[in-house]
Amino acid sequence: MSTQDNIFFEKAVSRISLSSGTSDLLRKPWRELTVSLPIRMDNGTVEVFEGYRIQHNGARGPYKGGIRYHPEANKEEIATLASLMSWKTALLNLPFGGAKGGIQCDPTSLSENELKRLTQRYIHSIEHIIGPQRDIPAPDMGTSEKTMGWMMDTYGQLHGYQPACVTGKPIELGGSLGRNSATGRGVIYILNEVAKDFKLEKKETRVAIQGFGNVGAWAAQLAYESGYSVIAVSDVFGGTYNPEGLNIPELFNHYAESGKIPTFKLGTSISNSELLTLNTDILIPAAIENSITETNATKITARIIVEAANHPITPQADEILESRNITVIPDILANAGGVTVSYFEWTQNIQQFQWDEQRINRELLSRMVAAYTQVRKKSLEEDISLRQAAFQIGIGKVAKAVELRGFV
Ligand code: NAD
Repeated sequence: MSTQDNIFFEKAVSRISLSSGTSDLLRKPWRELTVSLPIRMDNGTVEVFEGYRIQHNGARGPYKGGIRYHPEANKEEIATLASLMSWKTALLNLPFGGAKGGIQCDPTSLSENELKRLTQRYIHSIEHIIGPQRDIPAPDMGTSEKTMGWMMDTYGQLHGYQPACVTGKPIELGGSLGRNSATGRGVIYILNEVAKDFKLEKKETRVAIQGFGNVGAWAAQLAYESGYSVIAVSDVFGGTYNPEGLNIPELFNHYAESGKIPTFKLGTSISNSELLTLNTDILIPAAIENSITETNATKITARIIVEAANHPITPQADEILESRNITVIPDILANAGGVTVSYFEWTQNIQQFQWDEQRINRELLSRMVAAYTQVRKKSLEEDISLRQAAFQIGIGKVAKAVELRGFV
């Protein structure tokens, strides 16, 4: 775990009684694998990329977590994200541990064939530590259902047909209905619960969303459909803002044509930093880590922040927001919809059965609401933040499993 994540972990651990052996074990990943990935590029040269799979804790079940392709992917960041997966799967009561993986590369500068060769080489290099009952990868930043299809195929060439070896696959290969929208949908399910608790009228509630990828775009679409006023969204190029509410279907048409958010004609172009400090009720960071820091936390006007991205708020910023009475719905709760529907996908693959989308969304709703209710209750009972409550619950469950297995 990085020092950053250690702060959230240590704060939670200081309030629950764990033996020193247990906390020492949970502080570090169980296994870290770094692999060199030589790839023949389309121009005939060979490039060597670095890949990682980090398994944080598997006491509660097979390791589970996404794989990101990003130029800044590194071991420290991936270890932090792996530990968040352990707490998240425990919080949602999913029978999984936590892991994360990645390749340090810029997927936008690689051709489809280069990406496919890189993915195949990566799976060949980590196949001995993954599998349906060992460790089940999924998509994350820079990877998609297409990448998961290549992963399933490579694993299958070595071990036979095993669709449960990865989740987030195309439907035709055993992917689950509703997986694509699951993280964004879960974010909006949680937002709806928060809105009830804060007695917010949806149409008068302004929402600003940073990021328009898998998570941000679905969150924008579903927030709009649910009746919130989505006043701003952004991507890596910048954002668009309309205080009266953006026309999200039109924005999707514009994005499909141009691939860029800030040029949308029905909004005013703004920067990503302006989006974060806009006059809004709800802020949903759904892009990258550490976008809210001690520099901009003092300028945020939103009453509620829903962490759709992983680790979008630094611990220093988190303290500032808490002192300003801004409610933060933590990542391990808010974005758990993706791993929850990944669990449904894994279950369907093992059963060789397909659930319909209504069932997926109904079960997702019930699990997200149950987790939110449990976290809110603990936060009220112990007068602690929702993050502190969520971490305490997640870490406590992993610790219990570690002790029951006799690890310590
Ligand atoms: P994605 O690659 O599909 O989209 C990322 C979005 O962020 C894009 O719109 C991109 O333009 C934007 N972006 C990138 N760099 C940016 C920057 N510097 N400033 C502003 N915007 C920037 O990724 P995703 O799958 O939507 O994941 C987003 C976040 O959600 C990540 O933190 C990821 O770990 C987390 N997450 C994803 C899932 C999932 O199911 N995909 C599940 C849980 C958590």
